[in-house]
Amino acid sequence: MSTDSYTALVNQPLGRTLAKALGLPQPVTLRRHAPGAPLVEGSVLVIGGGPAADRVAEQLLDWGQDVRRHPAAQDRYGAIVAAFDDVGTPADLSSTALQLGSVQRQLGPSGRVVTLFKDPAGTPDPAVRAARKGVEGLTRSLAHEMRQGATANGIVLGEDVPPGAPGAIGALRFLLSARSAFVSGQFIPVSSADGAAPRDWDRPLAGRIAVVTGAARGIGAAIAGILHRDGATIVGVDVPAAGEGLADVVNALSGSALQLDITAPDAGERILAHCRERHGRLDIVVHNAGITRDRKLANMDAAQWDSVIAVNIESQLAMNRAFLAATGDGVVAPGLRIASLASTSGIAGNAGQTNYAASKAAVIGMVSATAPLMTGGGTINAVAPGFIETEMTARMPFLTREVARRMNSLSQGGRPVDVAEAVSFLVSDAAGGTSGATLRVCGQGIMGA
Ligand code: NAD
Repeated sequence: MSTDSYTALVNQPLGRTLAKALGLPQPVTLRRHAPGAPLVEGSVLVIGGGPAADRVAEQLLDWGQDVRRHPAAQDRYGAIVAAFDDVGTPADLSSTALQLGSVQRQLGPSGRVVTLFKDPAGTPDPAVRAARKGVEGLTRSLAHEMRQGATANGIVLGEDVPPGAPGAIGALRFLLSARSAFVSGQFIPVSSADGAAPRDWDRPLAGRIAVVTGAARGIGAAIAGILHRDGATIVGVDVPAAGEGLADVVNALSGSALQLDITAPDAGERILAHCRERHGRLDIVVHNAGITRDRKLANMDAAQWDSVIAVNIESQLAMNRAFLAATGDGVVAPGLRIASLASTSGIAGNAGQTNYAASKAAVIGMVSATAPLMTGGGTINAVAPGFIETEMTARMPFLTREVARRMNSLSQGGRPVDVAEAVSFLVSDAAGGTSGATLRVCGQGIMGA
């Protein structure tokens, strides 16, 4: 992995002074999750007038947090939760928004702002929808104003989803925690009251069997590591040519390896057979394997175009068909959870990546259309990473890389672990109310924002 030496430099006293004097970006080292570490460092301020504020405060107390309901000038906050669930017209935003502004400077490093509001699409009333959409604009802009590794994100509640629904509580915990270090300016839709709080928040995937494709290196290896840390048994899948790397990854996690090209027509059946023989079941699938064959469209040949489509999306469609057909057969557990890797290129487009962006936009379409087909409370979601520090991005020319990694609100690239944390959250029961969605892990990248 390439090291971000600029971030290291500006976190030294001399470098910090220089960066400040020259008006250069000042990325900070982000707080990241470690099992047993406090959920939030410092107290949590909960503001807003609707029923969600009371429910959130109650939940935070239950988690042992130091909760404040009224701002005080001397307080330093680790997080601020602003509930806007009762807004009926844009004028209603004022009191909570301004209260939020009055305490913005009291938020500590890697602090969190989480807004909570109801789905704008859930109402036909123009004033109510306007007010709810207003919270989106406020949250996105506030994310751009955050400093010192702090983030702002929102939770969007479906019309009939109460603020205490397991999915709302799960999203709240994820966004408050250091697991969401590189997620900013984003919204987690909680569209159903499904899901459940894990027995142990540090091991939410205990007892689950999780298939991770492309697990031999990069983001896939990080996903395997984080799902294992969170309690899952890992089945790592990768091409035979990557067999050595795959064995290293899964052996270190006491998992099992399956050498397989996921474009094989029987890839889904072979994964099912492996899970049946070695583990007796399958609970989680992470479609991570992906390739790039970058060229301007005018220079693209059929092999470059077709291989990217075949690996990045056609394989996933075919494997999902096999998994869905097998659901409830005794191997695929009811309530199967699928997470799929998209990319911000699939949202914003990127010169030289027509094939890749087509495949990643296709992933976003695929998860939204597959969500209603999931049975037994199963879910399917996508994660769209932005600039992540991997072997792939380390190979970019120096200047392109330096510019690309600063083009987000946190002024740095994310780490594979940041993508892995988002995947682990989405495949857990705590995200059971969210399906068909795409969560960006991009530090609020400017691309497609
Ligand atoms: P990587 O190239 O380092 O790893 C991809 C893995 O997938 C490799 O181990 C490779 O052998 C495996 N793979 C490729 N084709 C396969 C096939 N046909 N069958 C089985 N395995 C196969 O890539 P990465 O950077 O770790 O990216 C992982 C995922 O994240 C990809 O889907 C990628 O598009 C996506 N992504 C990455 C970034 C980034 O900044 N690195 C950004 C956005 C999205």
